[in-house]
Amino acid sequence: MTKVFLSLGSNIGDKKAYLESALNKLNQLPKTQVVSISPFYETAAWGKTDQDDFLNLCCELETSLPAQELLVNCQQIEKDLDRVRHEHWGPRTIDIDILLYGDDHINEENLKVPHPYMTERAFVLVPLHDIAPSLDICGKSITSYLKKLNLEEVRKLQS
Ligand code: ATP
Ligand code: CA
Ligand code: CA
Repeated sequence: MTKVFLSLGSNIGDKKAYLESALNKLNQLPKTQVVSISPFYETAAWGKTDQDDFLNLCCELETSLPAQELLVNCQQIEKDLDRVRHEHWGPRTIDIDILLYGDDHINEENLKVPHPYMTERAFVLVPLHDIAPSLDICGKSITSYLKKLNLEEVRKLQS
């Protein structure tokens, strides 16, 4: 089994319901279990800022699916949850990104791991730190990356 961290985000419709539904579907994938889920965070849109706020979280999986198969499965879950691809960084019902796949470095046309922007995004690192506080990313601690970010961009959802 490989330890995998995913980032999930939604900024259309019932965002919380889309995230919960995606987590259920991930847990139902073959050879895969969701073993940890962060709190939900509200965050202003990143990159393309003229759109509704996002709800984001991170989760940890244990899986024996190869990375490319996991990506295909994540993309199928996005489709099943009404994701329509319009523009890069545009609004979406659900976005599932593979942050880390074990200690692998993957540099394929359709799959880059560690996810290229993960260390620049508070909405990724804050929830990731909640579930993996002593994680190392490319040989540096998650807390060292967090120190460089504006943590006021993300707000924990009170449940
Ligand atoms: P970003 O990757 O900057 O967060 P995005 O999530 O909005 O942007 P998408 O439109 O969801 O980008 O995906 C574009 C492509 O990124 C996908 O078709 C997928 O093949 C590719 N991709 C590359 N690396 C990854 C990864 N680690 N996880 C998910 N998709 C990836
Ligand atoms: Ca993304
Ligand atoms: Ca994506």
